[in-house]
Amino acid sequence: MSVQVTLNPFEIAQRQLDEAAKILGLERGMHELLRWPMREFHVRIPVRMDDGSVRVFEGFRVQYNWARGPCKGGIRFHPGETFDTVRALAAWMTWKTAVMDLPLGGGKGGVVCNPMELSERELERLSRGYIQAIGHYIGPEIDVPAPDVNTNPQIMAWMMDEYEKIVGKSAPGVITGKPLPLGGSAGRVDATARGGMYCIREACKVLGINPKGATCAIQGHGNVGQFAHKLGEELLGLKVVAVSDVNGGIYNPKGLPVEEVIAHKEKTGSVVGFPGAKSITNAELLELPVDILIPAALENQITGANAGRIKAKIVAELANGPTTPEADEILFKNGIYVIPDFLCNAGGVTVSYFEQVQNAMMYYWTQEEVHQKLDQKMTAAFHAVHNSAKEHKVHNRLGAYLVAVPRVAEAVRLRGWA
Ligand code: NAD
Repeated sequence: MSVQVTLNPFEIAQRQLDEAAKILGLERGMHELLRWPMREFHVRIPVRMDDGSVRVFEGFRVQYNWARGPCKGGIRFHPGETFDTVRALAAWMTWKTAVMDLPLGGGKGGVVCNPMELSERELERLSRGYIQAIGHYIGPEIDVPAPDVNTNPQIMAWMMDEYEKIVGKSAPGVITGKPLPLGGSAGRVDATARGGMYCIREACKVLGINPKGATCAIQGHGNVGQFAHKLGEELLGLKVVAVSDVNGGIYNPKGLPVEEVIAHKEKTGSVVGFPGAKSITNAELLELPVDILIPAALENQITGANAGRIKAKIVAELANGPTTPEADEILFKNGIYVIPDFLCNAGGVTVSYFEQVQNAMMYYWTQEEVHQKLDQKMTAAFHAVHNSAKEHKVHNRLGAYLVAVPRVAEAVRLRGWA
């Protein structure tokens, strides 16, 4: 069966590593260790619902590798969550923290649930229940969760509070993406999108594209997509002509003003129906003739089936895993410059790391300091990946693996694990 049919994200993550391992000549034991999570948890979470009944939710936490430091990675609340999706995302977090040269490993968590169907009190009990299930196996020096799809600073606050009840002391560094009054970092809310914009800025430089007025389409208008829209306009002067959400997309070649689109979405629940814009499907959005395409929704959006029709010059992957390996080859052959997910969306984890640092020293930086430190980290990582891909004559994703994997392997080797 071809991967195009199965599209198991963890198989994709393993195949990507295999390719890098071949080029690097990784020895067998090391390769085997890096292909699998080192530790994983599969839990059931009983939650008392508002009507008095009990519902049992399924949860996961994967601690993929901690050779370079504590595991780090978000928690997703999604009805379609699977163990293999969480494993893949935990693997990508391992490569992401390494490519950014952060002293962290990789982890990820997920709960199979539809948060839209839960009341706020049910959501709080589920969030606390998840921490009751895994609380003894996480911590500032072990594994540090963060927000991801459908989770937010309020959920992080409940989770931190629950963890502190378990350990009986203040421990804000157990989780990042917290609200500011509870030890969150300035600059965290838009960090993922902002880091992506720094990457797009650098990509435009190496490709000789003027970002000012360059056209841009964004798939997904959630946490990340909305900030990408806003910061794309603000920092780079991009002209965002198309955006979408789960209900469909909108297109206006004259541009879509971010605040008005957000206001429309707040009022109607979707970007669809925005006045003056043409309705398009998510599939059509990906194939628009734009300079920059930003997938900011879910995985497996650009596949062997549609990659040949992508017209963008730059694909900036703010989502995790939006491009399959078959699509990677096609985009590379067609000269499309992909900024791979674990570089492009690493701004979130980088400011999460800054949050951990600030929690540990109990001293907080200004927003300007955070932006400046983030810019330095993103720019350095972007050029390390760009140069690695050039040197090995491979696409940027493989170039990023060729930066990240040796860093993890070196830590594993120094510890004497393999
Ligand atoms: P979110 O839930 O806030 O937003 C997701 C958006 O995608 C929503 O607009 C939703 O309507 C849309 N969407 C959902 N299903 C879709 C579909 N089938 N087709 C088209 N659009 C669809 O989530 P987010 O935090 O913005 O995360 C988006 C992506 O970015 C994910 O891949 C996530 O793993 C990744 N990411 C997030 C962060 C972060 O800091 N939040 C960090 C790194 C990576």
